[in-house]
Amino acid sequence: MSGNRTFTMIKPDAVENGVSGAILKQIQEAGFKIIALKQTKLSLEQASKFYFIHRERPFYADLCAFMSSGPIFPAILEKENAVEDFRKLIGATNPANADAGTIRKNFAESIDKNAIHGSDSDENAVIESNFFFSELERF
Ligand code: GDP
Repeated sequence: MSGNRTFTMIKPDAVENGVSGAILKQIQEAGFKIIALKQTKLSLEQASKFYFIHRERPFYADLCAFMSSGPIFPAILEKENAVEDFRKLIGATNPANADAGTIRKNFAESIDKNAIHGSDSDENAVIESNFFFSELERF
């Protein structure tokens, strides 16, 4: 049985392009409640830690450099079946393959600058939420 929370980040490309508000609007209109949200910026070291799971992949260095290149909006979201439903809402990793109406189709530029992150499991949603937020920051 799947949990009711997931973790997301609006990535530096989307923040830079001024579409964070539009993305949050689409998330809320899809029925997700915002439990925690802030603007922050990762150091290269922090991004490398967050994406450690991808350390063997050829794009790891580029990914960590990109994710520490500018401000991001991490958030914790709540909805029934949150992880799976949010992955559907954001669409395929490569926006060229994302379904019409998904966040990546609407707002992403490319497979690396793809606007938004969504946890891929309940377990990772907890780990990723704890990376950014204390209990005091959750409502
Ligand atoms: P996701 O779960 O849909 O975000 O995709 P993955 O877990 O496969 O990859 C994590 C992130 O790495 C993606 O969201 C992209 O930002 C980035 N990424 C994936 N594939 C590539 C690639 O081929 N090149 C680069 N530079 N980045 C990639």
